[in-house]
Amino acid sequence: MARIAIKVEPLHADGTVCLHAVSPSGKPRDPNSGCTGRRSYRVQCSACGTVGTPHGLCVLAEPEQTKRRGQHQTALANR
Ligand SMILES: [Zn+2]
Ligand SMILES: [Zn+2]
Repeated sequence: MARIAIKVEPLHADGTVCLHAVSPSGKPRDPNSGCTGRRSYRVQCSACGTVGTPHGLCVLAEPEQTKRRGQHQTALANR
């Protein structure tokens, strides 16, 4: 059985995933990296795709991630 991975992904203002290194303040570590900064955070599930709408803060996305993980555990237990 494939393992389901649920992760929080930071997004740029244009909706692309930010994989740049950023400082704790959210500013890009490397000014030449082309990073436009992290504007929002989305929850991405390997089974369902994007969960809900992107959140403005990482701490707001984390409960969504936890909830989704719990739903999958319930679904698997009832099988
Ligand atoms: Zn970036
Ligand atoms: Zn899912």
